[in-house]
Amino acid sequence: MVTTRSPEQGDFDSFFQLSAIVTRQHARATAIFHSPHTARFWSPMSSPVHFFDADEVEQLRRRARLDPQVIRQLRNDLLKKFRPTDECLTGLPADEDLSVHSLKLYRQLNSQTDGATKLLFRNADQLLLESVILRIATGRTTLCVSSQVGCAAACDFCATGKMGIARNLTAAEILDQVLQAGQLLATESRRLNNIVFMGMGEPFHNTVALYEAVQQLTDPRLFDRSGGNILVSTVGLPDEMVRFARAFPNVNLALSLHSADQKKRESIIPLARTYPLKSLHNAVRQVQQISGRELMIEYLMLQDINDSVADAERLLDWLTDLSVHVNLIPYNAVEESPHLQATGRPQIEAFARVLRDAGRKTTIRYSLGSDIEAACGQLVRMENRQQAIDSHRASGS
Ligand code: SAH
Repeated sequence: MVTTRSPEQGDFDSFFQLSAIVTRQHARATAIFHSPHTARFWSPMSSPVHFFDADEVEQLRRRARLDPQVIRQLRNDLLKKFRPTDECLTGLPADEDLSVHSLKLYRQLNSQTDGATKLLFRNADQLLLESVILRIATGRTTLCVSSQVGCAAACDFCATGKMGIARNLTAAEILDQVLQAGQLLATESRRLNNIVFMGMGEPFHNTVALYEAVQQLTDPRLFDRSGGNILVSTVGLPDEMVRFARAFPNVNLALSLHSADQKKRESIIPLARTYPLKSLHNAVRQVQQISGRELMIEYLMLQDINDSVADAERLLDWLTDLSVHVNLIPYNAVEESPHLQATGRPQIEAFARVLRDAGRKTTIRYSLGSDIEAACGQLVRMENRQQAIDSHRASGS
């Protein structure tokens, strides 16, 4: 358990756990097949009112002649207190079909070794997506949400990137991950503290839904979350980072840098060709000017690729003029990339020392959920593969 943390980073404490988290052992994982909200799951045969669509809810309220207080109460109970859905809906007329959940919980995997839970959801298109709950020893809880099914960024080290992109999630699908995770935690008398967009997908490839989701998360009438407890992680789209900082200056941003050498970065992140390091540096500076917040720089440690002392010094150069917190991420092996290997612990420590000696806030992320395939996209890939095998067998071919 390796994290060293500067005291002023309190709000970030559980963000650091998120690289998630993975080894290949699934033996100890417990799978629970469970779907608590089937009764209110989206059905293509009817045209329900969508709970996260304010206009539709307002129309329902007028149609049913409900006092605005009824809707306020419903939102408070569901989105702030995370009370069970069926209990919250008792005040609504029976003939109104209000669809609260656009996702169905398909599997829940609880780590047997630490406080991580992976939630595997299915959406109305039958696509699988995942969220990870991290219960940190300090008592704080972080939820890692997905913004897309798959990802178009195709980073070489990322299981989700290897899937390609299926589709963007809607704001309702993003928010339902928060709602259902919050409800699960409420049954344990735990509060959800942090929400990080570090699950499947590139949030800035889905800006419409991202903005809508962050707006609803921070709206005092809805989830009422503080922006400081939300973090959006990006592979690095400079213009989008700046635009987001203008729209949500109180929300944290993280940049998945992974190398300060242009050629090396391009070799692991195809999008680096489109968005060179220089423009990212500019973007980080602008974001800081706009928000006054410190950015997080994520740096995946890949053996013999980006982990030498010279790489650390190059990173230091790149960080000149920037106020950031560097988070070094141990790499979780991805089957499709056998050429990539994790840097050993001593070398990660040595890399961190170079940064710290230069006065840079540096954390080494530790892992939770190592027994439940908790890294971004890993479980969905496994599950999809198994289903493909099963249907192939069933068809007799
Ligand atoms: N697309 C966004 C958010 C999703 S990935 C982004 O790139 O930031 C969230 C974080 O997990 C990123 O920092 C990403 O680099 C990291 N990550 C992806 N695959 C990983 C792996 N196999 N091992 C460790 N971290 C990984």
